[in-house]
Amino acid sequence: MHELSIAESIVRVACNHADERRVTRVHVKLGHLRQVVPSALAFSFGLVAEGTGVEGAELEMEEVPAAGICRRCGEESQLEGFPLVCRTCGGFDLEIIRGEELLVEFLELEEA
Ligand SMILES: [Zn+2]
Repeated sequence: MHELSIAESIVRVACNHADERRVTRVHVKLGHLRQVVPSALAFSFGLVAEGTGVEGAELEMEEVPAAGICRRCGEESQLEGFPLVCRTCGGFDLEIIRGEELLVEFLELEEA
């Protein structure tokens, strides 16, 4: 259940930023390589948010496709999953440039 620990950190970040106000919407960016199951994260989020200022907030998830730059040929590839392979030369030595995101992009707060 790694979604549960992700949900905990999202709620913690949201509560810190909300500063006692109620949160109505949380928008998160999830990199494809995090392998988060959206339904599991939504469920965990609901559980963790209970009793906090984030309770009842809508969780919006935006998946960021993964991409890497090959250290051998220098080409950029979209990465669909593991193993990470360069689409141009088949090399495995890639520098990940996108797809590892796990961040709260913005919050919507109830008007005070
Ligand atoms: Zn390559």
